[in-house]
Amino acid sequence: MPITPFHLFPAGVVYFLFHRRLHGIAFILASVLMDIEPVLYLVLGSPRGSFPLLLGSYVPMSLHWFTHNPFAVFLVMAPFTTILTKTLELAKPLWLQIFSEAEWVAYSWRSTYLTAILGGFVHLGWDSTVHGDVNFGFPFTRISNPLINSQFAIWIGMLSLILIVPAYFVGKRINGDSPFQKLP
Ligand SMILES: [Zn+2]
Repeated sequence: MPITPFHLFPAGVVYFLFHRRLHGIAFILASVLMDIEPVLYLVLGSPRGSFPLLLGSYVPMSLHWFTHNPFAVFLVMAPFTTILTKTLELAKPLWLQIFSEAEWVAYSWRSTYLTAILGGFVHLGWDSTVHGDVNFGFPFTRISNPLINSQFAIWIGMLSLILIVPAYFVGKRINGDSPFQKLP
């Protein structure tokens, strides 16, 4: 969070600008799937207790204790998103039937993974301005989040809303085509 679907706006700005270089499905999935954790807790109930860190001490199990940190982006969420994305790619004939005008661009596993990392960090970046339980040291130690800033959080949200349309047109010039003309 903040309100998961709104992550599509900052992600959309970045994607529109660089869509040729980014795996669309991986980027969009990575920018929202980070919130699997808080959404699960909201449905199933918040976790209680503490989790032992590798260098000693504990971290309380809050809404964002496991997925919202750089370690989880690199080693949990980006690999998970990459595998999910590559599985979805198996339906290529179906995708091309639905979006018959689109050009299929082949992305390697490596570029899909790197795209998922970028999507994860776009999510984490905005969340870091909002959530005090983002722990940059997980799973080793506790590093309290220095980026909390409600004014900055609002600015990111407003700017991404304002910039989404200009980003589309600038991205069209940079990439030579529309983001809606290519898959995946
Ligand atoms: Zn989040």
